[in-house]
Amino acid sequence: MTTSGHDQRIAVVTGASSGIGEATARVLAAQGFHVVAAARRADRIAALADEIGGTAVVTDVTDPDAVAALAEACDRIPGSVSVLVNNAGGAKGLASVEQADLEHWRWMWETNVLGTLHVTRALLPKLVASGDGLVVTVTSIAALEIYDGGAGYTSAKHAQSALHRTLRGELLGKPVRLTEIAPGMVDTEFSLVRFDGDRERADGVYHGLTPLTATDIAEVIGFVASRPPHVDLDQIVIRPRDQASATRAHRVEPR
Ligand code: NAP
Repeated sequence: MTTSGHDQRIAVVTGASSGIGEATARVLAAQGFHVVAAARRADRIAALADEIGGTAVVTDVTDPDAVAALAEACDRIPGSVSVLVNNAGGAKGLASVEQADLEHWRWMWETNVLGTLHVTRALLPKLVASGDGLVVTVTSIAALEIYDGGAGYTSAKHAQSALHRTLRGELLGKPVRLTEIAPGMVDTEFSLVRFDGDRERADGVYHGLTPLTATDIAEVIGFVASRPPHVDLDQIVIRPRDQASATRAHRVEPR
C-alpha cells in the first residue's frame, strides 16, 4: 500500500548505502513508507532511492550542518516523518586498550554515538508532530557485553544504547515509540570496514557458520514499524543460532 500527499508516512534511514540500512530501506518502502535514504556514498543511495521511489540525501551523520540539511530535505517532502532508523555506524580495528588507535576511537564515537545524537535531535520535533513516531536505533550485542580488543566499539555501542534508552523516559507522554535492535553477527560490509578493506580477515569473521543477513534484521524492523501506536518493542537482541556471545560461536570448520 502506498500513500501520497499529506498522509504519506516518511521513514528516514541512516546508513542506507549498504547492509542493514539498505535492506531496511527496501522493507519500509515495501510497507508504504516514503523512505529518505541517508549516507555519504551518493551513487549508492541515489540508485536505491530510484529503485524504491524514495529520496536520497547525502549525509555525514557526524556533521551537524549536514544533518540540519537532512531535516530540511524532509520538510520538502509531503507527509510527516514518523520513523527514524539510527543505523549508520560501525567498528574500526580490534586493538587492545594499551594499543588503542585514537583515530579509530574517534571515528567510532563520532559515528555511532554523536551521529545518533545529531540525527535524533534534528528529527525529534517532526517525529513528535507526526502523532505516531518511532525511533529505531541499531546498536549491537556489543552494547550488552565487552570483549578483548573491542573497547572502542563496545564503549561506543554502550553509549549509543544509553542515549537511546534515556529517550524512553524523556519522551514519556509524547507519541514516540523507541526500539533498540541489538544484532549479533550480520554478514554486511561491517567487517570489511572494521579491517580496512582486508577481505580475507573480514570473511574469517563468518567462517564456518551461518551469520544473519541484513534482510533478517530489516524484516524485524519492518515488524516493529507495523505495530499499532501503543505497542513499544523496547529492546530486541537477534543472533545467529550458532552465536552465543561476541566471542563464542559454533563453527563447522574452525580456522
Ligand atoms: P555496513 O554495511 O558497513 O553499513 C554501515 C552504513 O553506515 C553504511 O551505509 C555507511 O554509509 C554508513 N555510515 C558510516 N559512517 C557514516 C557517516 N559518518 N555518515 C553517514 N552514514 C555513515 O554495516 P552494517 O552491518 O549494515 O551496519 C549497520 C549498523 O549495524 C551499524 O551501526 C553497526 O554497528 C550495526 N551492527 C552491525 C553488526 C554486523 O555484524 N554487521 C552487528 C551488530 C550491529 P557510507 O559509508 O556511504 O556513509
